[in-house]
Amino acid sequence: MEVVLERLQQHNIKPSMQRIAIMKYLMDHRTHPTVDEIYTALSPTIPTLSKTTVYNTLKILSEQGAAQTLTIDERNTCYDADITPHAHFLCKHCGKIYDLSCDASIKQTEEIDMDGYEVQEIHYYYKGICKQCKEKKRS
Ligand SMILES: [Zn+2]
Ligand SMILES: [Zn+2]
Repeated sequence: MEVVLERLQQHNIKPSMQRIAIMKYLMDHRTHPTVDEIYTALSPTIPTLSKTTVYNTLKILSEQGAAQTLTIDERNTCYDADITPHAHFLCKHCGKIYDLSCDASIKQTEEIDMDGYEVQEIHYYYKGICKQCKEKKRS
C-alpha cells in the first residue's frame, strides 16, 4: 500500500480510493493489462467503479508519468506500472506483451538531445512470436 501511495504522491496525483486500487492493480500485475481487464478484476470489490473511471484514472496516471500507456497492440491500449524505459514485445500468436530487458541502446528521455525538442516518451515495440509459442509449435 505504501509504495502505491508514494507513487501517486510523487506524481502529484490525489490518492482517491479508486486511484489507489487501480495503481495497485497495475503495480501488482506486470502483464500490461487493458482497461477491460482492470475493470473486470476490480469491479467485484469496488461496485461503484465504472469503466469510464478506470479509463480516466489510467489517463491521469499516464499523463502524470505514474504509468505508461502502450499502443503496441492496435486493438487494445495497455498500461504498465513500470515507468523505466524498456522495450516491449508483442506476440502475434498469443497476444501477450512481454518486457524485454533493456540494453544500452535504450536511453532515458533526458539523455536524448533533440535540438530543443523535449522528449517525454520513448517507445520501443517489437512484434513476433514469443518463446512459449515457438516451443508449442515445435512439439
Ligand atoms: Zn506467444
Ligand atoms: Zn512493460
